Amino acid sequence: MIMLNILHRIVQEVNSAPDLHSALEVIVREVKRAVKADVCSVYLTDYEARKHVLSATHGLRQEAVGKVSLPMHRGLIGLVCERAEPINIDDAPSHPRYLFVTDTGEVPYHGFLGVPIIQNRKVLGVLVVRQRQPRKFEDNEVTFLFTLAAQLAGAITHARAQGELNGIAGSDTVHMRYLEGRPSASGVAVGKVVVTYRLDDLDVIPDRRSEQPELEIAQLKHAVARVEDSLRRLQSRLGEVLPTEEQALFDALLLMLGSDSLVTQTIARITQGEWVQSALHHTIEEHARVFDRMDDIYLRERASDIRDLGRRILMCLQSDTPREVHYPARTILVGEDVSGVELMEVPHERLVGVVSARGSGASHVAIIARAMGIPAVLGVTDLPTARMEDREVVVDGYRGRVYVSPAAAVLDEYRRLLEEERQLSLELEELKGQKAETTDGIEVPLYLNTGLAAEMHSLGASEAGGVGLYRTELPFMVSDRFPGERAQIANYRAVLEAFAPRPVTLRTLDIGGDKPLPYFPFHESNPFLGWRGVRVSLDHPEIFLTQIRAMLRAAIGLDNLHIMLPMITTVSELDGLMLLIQRAHDELLEEGFPVAMPRVGVMVEVPAAVFQVAALARRVDFISVGTNDLTQYLLAVDRNNPHVGELYDELHPAVLKALVMVVEGAAKLNCRVSVCGEMAGNPMAALLLLGMGIDSLSMNAGSLLKVKWVIRSFSRARARQLLQAALRMEDASQVRLLMEGALNDMGLAGLVHPGK
Ligand code: PEP
Ligand code: MG
Repeated sequence: MIMLNILHRIVQEVNSAPDLHSALEVIVREVKRAVKADVCSVYLTDYEARKHVLSATHGLRQEAVGKVSLPMHRGLIGLVCERAEPINIDDAPSHPRYLFVTDTGEVPYHGFLGVPIIQNRKVLGVLVVRQRQPRKFEDNEVTFLFTLAAQLAGAITHARAQGELNGIAGSDTVHMRYLEGRPSASGVAVGKVVVTYRLDDLDVIPDRRSEQPELEIAQLKHAVARVEDSLRRLQSRLGEVLPTEEQALFDALLLMLGSDSLVTQTIARITQGEWVQSALHHTIEEHARVFDRMDDIYLRERASDIRDLGRRILMCLQSDTPREVHYPARTILVGEDVSGVELMEVPHERLVGVVSARGSGASHVAIIARAMGIPAVLGVTDLPTARMEDREVVVDGYRGRVYVSPAAAVLDEYRRLLEEERQLSLELEELKGQKAETTDGIEVPLYLNTGLAAEMHSLGASEAGGVGLYRTELPFMVSDRFPGERAQIANYRAVLEAFAPRPVTLRTLDIGGDKPLPYFPFHESNPFLGWRGVRVSLDHPEIFLTQIRAMLRAAIGLDNLHIMLPMITTVSELDGLMLLIQRAHDELLEEGFPVAMPRVGVMVEVPAAVFQVAALARRVDFISVGTNDLTQYLLAVDRNNPHVGELYDELHPAVLKALVMVVEGAAKLNCRVSVCGEMAGNPMAALLLLGMGIDSLSMNAGSLLKVKWVIRSFSRARARQLLQAALRMEDASQVRLLMEGALNDMGLAGLVHPGK
């Protein structure tokens, strides 16, 4: 228990360290103390220079830090790194791999325990404790270091990213390093960062200069007074029922607010040039950290009370002073968890890229980015958001890289790629108005996915054969209550009319998962396996019926409405929804509205639906495969979780086989099948879908011409051959190589790689 406390405290302190150096200092100081060793050091592995660099020590000579290093595969440190497991020996000098280094001020140490620091399967460095006397470290000490090292890996990469950015500020060091994330929407962009953050989250407040210190000080005082006031009112309201310790907590918080130290220190920071938000953040952190360091669990808890106080002041501060954001001409939106709505808040013509710590290629924010035609790198887990405001960055959405304050050489390279991209889009322009027809004369209708992005892409409207997926969630997400029948009619009528007589497929509300409604909150530990899509519709027929009524009324006189049901898992769900649709139709007729019965289809997104495709096909007019969800459920990979982002792959042979089953199963019942997941807009995957005999493809506007180019470059026969070869493969990476090769042979490599 004591060890656990110490562990917790060290991790807390490391997590809040401003840079790598301070983080490592904390580690070596505290670990040495905790296991009573003579020395504790951290060596970080530099793979390019092939050495382990002494990066912090308590016990060896300080001057050696950063200067002394050990060659990659030599010595005991090298052995820990190679084996990627702890080494615990009581007499190091007698070990064959022992290497005696004098520059560190070492006398031969005997006891040695080294544990690797590993993140994402990669050894980042070695944490080592040493004892002058022979000593075999106890099991609980080994596990202590082991546990600590596992938790530290993330903090180390984070601190490294933060620190590197600090180093760049104001210096002109050549900067070739980049942050890595998931390539989530292709394309490259060069632009200026605008950080987006939650109003109550202190940790993501970007560092900025104060523009009007006087005004900001007054705002701070006002916010503090409001918080004080609300705490007092709460205290007196709860007075009698509140247990004594809670009373004491209120007193302590009020004391802090009144004690001046918090306010004066924040004011001092503002006067020195920090803007009020980050001045508050830094002061709160300084106070909280004092408590973080305490061994006593009760006192340590006070740190979170202080942070809570900070959040309350921040909320007041920001609600008093609505954020006025200036978006530069080439804005790159950066945030911890950028949402689709935040993307849409930026004026369309100014937004050129998006970077987020959370999310991955299949997240809805990635889908919106693709629809807007802007590159996205998501899942950049070490994103130093607070330090990025206003910086120049390069976003490489093909490779998942973000260069912050890049070197001139990097900028030049990306400007060249941008020019090539421009050339490519000029070539694509020439395909406008041409048929999406294979060289052997098979026409594959291409439809548009829309609805999530606010505006209808003008290109899509003229190029697409209709709308294959209209996600109806948007008006529900941006409103403060469920939109009524009238409001929904206006919305659906606009899209039905814009495309008539071409078909428009409206999907019924698919909330839940990563699309919560602010006014309809529900908390689940597994939202993607929970209450989403038609599961909500069946439990709330009033919401579903209102939507269906609006759709039917919007389509009066146009006759191009298709309705599509998401997340179907069982036939009884489908039967229940069909009855509701019939009921809405009959009731409207009774009310005198001349509505027609629409064509109805289901989405195959859940593996169960793949195996029951015949039963579903028998009941509907069409099937559309939602490969975004189908991939997530087949591979058991959360489409938003960057830690497993690499596993998410729609070219996985299991996904291909499932699709073949759907196409074959539906064909037996003459039911048409389309794909409306992002896979349809991926040039490599579209070629495989063509080989499967998919009837149509539906994608975002940015992909239409690219996929058209692929279809016009291949014959259906060749696509079939490629599919057969892909189905014999056992791994997605082999399939990818095959498809890249096929596109390359036709001179289409520019569709999947940066540049031409
Ligand atoms: C899908 O899952 O493939 C799909 C098209 O739906 P969404 O991305 O909106 O979940
Ligand atoms: Mg889906």
